[in-house]
Amino acid sequence: MARWTCPHGEHAGNGCVTCYHASADVDPALPLWEVAVWFTTERPIPIRTLQDVHRHDRDLALTQPSTPLVYLLSAQVRAGLGAEAVAGVVGFLVQNRHVVDEFTVTEIRAAHS
Ligand SMILES: [Zn+2]
Repeated sequence: MARWTCPHGEHAGNGCVTCYHASADVDPALPLWEVAVWFTTERPIPIRTLQDVHRHDRDLALTQPSTPLVYLLSAQVRAGLGAEAVAGVVGFLVQNRHVVDEFTVTEIRAAHS
């Protein structure tokens, strides 16, 4: 799973707060990644909270595809590596525990857009 290890040694699925902060001030020359992260939670996330994520960070969207307690966090971010892009997106969840306190990432996708 080395492919999903960010430059700070974190597994992208666990998130990296350093990558998350780095994504706020990123070199516009870096590749743009379409990131999708599916995760499960112990408790449902209120609709209001899902909507607030978009307001909080314009590049992020948190949606509930169809299955209860399964959520999709998606974003377009610039980063040198796909793992860095994903670690930064999951880092949003780590940094914002009021959105979701406990989560388990089940699937990751990152592609050049
Ligand atoms: Zn990192």
